[in-house]
Amino acid sequence: MIIVCPSCGAKNRVPEDKLTAQPTCGQCHQNLVPLAPIELNEQNFSNFVSNSDLPIIIDLWADWCGPCKMMAPHFAEVAKTNPNVVFAKIDTEANPRLSSAFNIRSIPTLVLMNKTTEVARISGALRANQLQEWLDQQLNALK
Ligand SMILES: [Zn+2]
Repeated sequence: MIIVCPSCGAKNRVPEDKLTAQPTCGQCHQNLVPLAPIELNEQNFSNFVSNSDLPIIIDLWADWCGPCKMMAPHFAEVAKTNPNVVFAKIDTEANPRLSSAFNIRSIPTLVLMNKTTEVARISGALRANQLQEWLDQQLNALK
């Protein structure tokens, strides 16, 4: 499968069974699956989303949003144990065109994307166990 490097944007071909073996980028040698949320923005979004074979869960947040900050450590915690999903964050204030493209009405909003298609979204802060449960449900529905 193709994984887009979160550091340099290069496309890497990785066998699916090597996802948990901490694969590194052929270009920049950084971790391809960092097990931590990456930042997406208006510059890198379309390259990332259109080329990634992994589903991407995006946390749309803003600095002034209390519930967003509450959820952030939970989102990071779930990222550690899900190498089969890319965890990404979009700062809605810094990226107004992306947040309007997503038609965001409230934050935090989580959007799950699979090969450029939005497959699910949920609004409001979730704890780690709720987030994992929601993600598992959506991933099962994709199979
Ligand atoms: Zn790279």
